[in-house]
Amino acid sequence: MDTSLFSHSYQSPTGSPIRELFPYLSKPGLISFAGGYPSPELFDGDGLKEAAARVTGGSNDVYQYGPTEGLPALRERLAELGQKRGVEAQAQNLLVTTGSQQAFDLLVKTLLDPGDTVLVELPAYPATLQALRLAQVQVLGVPMDAHGLQTESLRSTLQALRTASRPKLLYTVPTFSNPSGTVLCEARRASLVELALEYGFFIVEDDPYGELSFTSDLHKPLYRHGMEMAGSRNPVIYLSSLSKTVAPALRTGWMAANDDILRRCAIAKQTADLCSSPLTQMIATEYLGLGRYDAAVERACRTYQERMQVMTDGLNALLSHQLSFVQPQGGMFLWADLHPDMPLPDLFDACVREGVLYVPGTAFFPTPTARKSIRMSFASPGLADIQEGVNRLRRAMDAVTPVIRSSRANASVAAGV
Ligand code: PMP
Repeated sequence: MDTSLFSHSYQSPTGSPIRELFPYLSKPGLISFAGGYPSPELFDGDGLKEAAARVTGGSNDVYQYGPTEGLPALRERLAELGQKRGVEAQAQNLLVTTGSQQAFDLLVKTLLDPGDTVLVELPAYPATLQALRLAQVQVLGVPMDAHGLQTESLRSTLQALRTASRPKLLYTVPTFSNPSGTVLCEARRASLVELALEYGFFIVEDDPYGELSFTSDLHKPLYRHGMEMAGSRNPVIYLSSLSKTVAPALRTGWMAANDDILRRCAIAKQTADLCSSPLTQMIATEYLGLGRYDAAVERACRTYQERMQVMTDGLNALLSHQLSFVQPQGGMFLWADLHPDMPLPDLFDACVREGVLYVPGTAFFPTPTARKSIRMSFASPGLADIQEGVNRLRRAMDAVTPVIRSSRANASVAAGV
């Protein structure tokens, strides 16, 4: 086909690198650490059924269009949820979106022109990189370490940039990052917001995982730092979602931001989908009103923590010579840096042969990287599968790198939990 009829960005676009792994999932017996899906047995099916029955049991009005900004009752409930996390936005400062994925897309539409400069933490959430690539902006990476995005490195980058290429926004997942699993430490949170105010860029704080914490530590949202430092000039735009705490099928996300941003995003949303499904918004509203949310989140935290522990115990026992990682304190992901001698395509193929899947770290960088790393999710597989998956990973690594075998060559994690 004559591709010149497509827009410049879509002449030869590349799809999501994670979705491209889907064909491997049909392999019988495969254990996947690759997906970013929450565990279905943690969905509160009874609560959702009750909420849906309440919504569909009455008048036909529930099948009508709704306001672009979202149903007022849902905005109230989401504002309450945010306030419990320290995001002091009122209902009128929230826009309901079709997943938080749409919220970012609306920001790309309303804030960015081709050629603009955007900062992202590295490694970064691939769908964000994809949206930025399609928007034809210049993406600059800011490295992360065990304490999240390195603000000193960001400061140097900002100082070096010419005025013409000053960034318009910075994207970060500061709490239990996807993919790195890390938390941005308190001191850096304040520095990051200070830098945004000093250099005049927005921060997109993407927070789908913040409530999935394995500790009692509190992580003050960047949004709140921004409010305290700048009030109505808050440079932080807060995004969140019910996908990881209730159910992704609700496709319910939201954005908290100032009026100028929200009004423009609402206009962009009018052309995207008019409004997010009022039906699922009503189900979400009813669900949040049932009083079951906190218990469901607590259950998810306990389950994910247990799974993370089994995964990290296994990696420590079997693969400490081949990889290193920061133990996640929440969320769904573990990021591991591999031994520099690890042959990457060979490892992926060996893992597929053994029946275990991960996401290659290269998916999380905007340009080719020499860094050898992988992302593994501990959210979906059960405990026995996690143990077996780690055993398979070990066998695959041993097969491709006989020289960097650990001294405990014959160890294996006991199966059967
Ligand atoms: N941001 C991050 C960091 C994510 O990991 C995800 C889902 N994987 C999303 C946004 C999108 O979530 P949703 O659209 O389901 O709310």
